[in-house]
Amino acid sequence: MTSLLNDWRRTHYTKNVNDSQNDEEVVIMGWVHEIRDLGGIAFILIRDREGVIQVTAPKKHISPEVVEEIKKFRKESVVGIKGKVQESGKAPNGVEIIPTEIKILNLANQPLPMDPTEKVKAEIDTRLDSRFLDLRKSSVSSIFKIKSKMLHTVRVFFEENGFIETNTPKLVASATEGGTELFPITYFEREAFLSQSPQLYKQMMMSAGFDKVYEIAQIFRAEEHDTLRHLNEAISIDMEASFMDDKDVMKLLNDLVSQVIINVKDGCKSELATLEVDLEVPEEQFEILKYSDAVDIINSKDVPMEWGEDLSRAAEKALGEMMEGYYFLTEWPTEIKPFYVMPNEKNPEISHAFDLMYKDIEISSGAMRVHQYDLLKERIAEKGLNPDSFGSYLKSFEYGMPPHSGWGLGADRFNMSLTGLNNIRETVLFPRDRRRLTP
Ligand code: ATP
Ligand code: MG
Repeated sequence: MTSLLNDWRRTHYTKNVNDSQNDEEVVIMGWVHEIRDLGGIAFILIRDREGVIQVTAPKKHISPEVVEEIKKFRKESVVGIKGKVQESGKAPNGVEIIPTEIKILNLANQPLPMDPTEKVKAEIDTRLDSRFLDLRKSSVSSIFKIKSKMLHTVRVFFEENGFIETNTPKLVASATEGGTELFPITYFEREAFLSQSPQLYKQMMMSAGFDKVYEIAQIFRAEEHDTLRHLNEAISIDMEASFMDDKDVMKLLNDLVSQVIINVKDGCKSELATLEVDLEVPEEQFEILKYSDAVDIINSKDVPMEWGEDLSRAAEKALGEMMEGYYFLTEWPTEIKPFYVMPNEKNPEISHAFDLMYKDIEISSGAMRVHQYDLLKERIAEKGLNPDSFGSYLKSFEYGMPPHSGWGLGADRFNMSLTGLNNIRETVLFPRDRRRLTP
């Protein structure tokens, strides 16, 4: 029989129980991680969000009711344990709990669809199928604690730099950059799309006079490719700022990435240790590599690439072999960047666009934007798009649009760089890819 919580409340997370509470009564709540019943004595490991603690039950010295309850324990059941803290050289953390009262709050069915104790390694698909169990592993929850620290740092950073948080629509009437990567949806009698980027809206917020805005939100991309760094739903950290050029917003991006690394290194020590990651705080500003120099490096690595082409996967890998950590790629050909990217005044073949790379993956794209109505209309047409379908966007450029710049930073890819993981699926709670729409 299972019990209700009633007046029981947790007094400590497992990691906060230590020898300073020796002989005190504590209440812990968690999952049965392991059971070892040696007859006269039982050892149970109880796991919660923060760690694991040993409950030691010498049958002669505890009440028969508690002994009976322990007999019913099954792996991964949810239990509450009230007991006395006792120093113990042998137990993990140097303390154990001698139970005085036990509540079984919910029993877990057996066998489990997967083992959440890290003993048996499972394939990513098996893990994702039972993600709620997978997420019970500290090696997995650590990824999301780091992500939480990252996102918190991002918000504090933007607030401290005078940015306003915004929420722009994710149901949109037309494409941001062309129609290829969009998910169409039925919107009453019409067709609409899931937003692939807040790009057009954050620019309109510049015309609205908000000066500096940021948004952390889902982006949807109907990309068909099945790679380790693309998902169909991702989180983008976006910013846009008026009266700033590409160099100004690159500096902001650099400072933000460094601040996140500092805060994660400082605030997520046990998570980084669990993941065996040794984060290095960048001491200098990130290296800046011109696109044309990148092409030379890529060719020198025997990966053929012409000036004017986008980076292939092989090209990114070749570059990643040469470049360490984070680095910017600048002076991109205008041709391969979106219409809203500002061409260079002296040489319109190249643009004010940049990417931030981490080793061999792109984590951010940004640029100084075109803020002149006529030029923007021209650029839209040059890309083979119809300016008429950008009506409400273009309108915001006709009545006082300031010069502005911005970037979008993929939160999940950024998290890959912080956690050292090479599959983006690891860094998303419930990833959406070509084959996966559940759970
Ligand atoms: P890529 O060339 O790697 O496909 P992109 O240039 O199409 O990326 P942008 O439109 O520049 O991507 O988006 C800005 C950032 O958003 C990217 O640098 C990346 O970090 C993130 N991002 C974009 N698409 C995806 C995706 N499908 N899955 C995960 N993150 C993405
Ligand atoms: Mg990009």
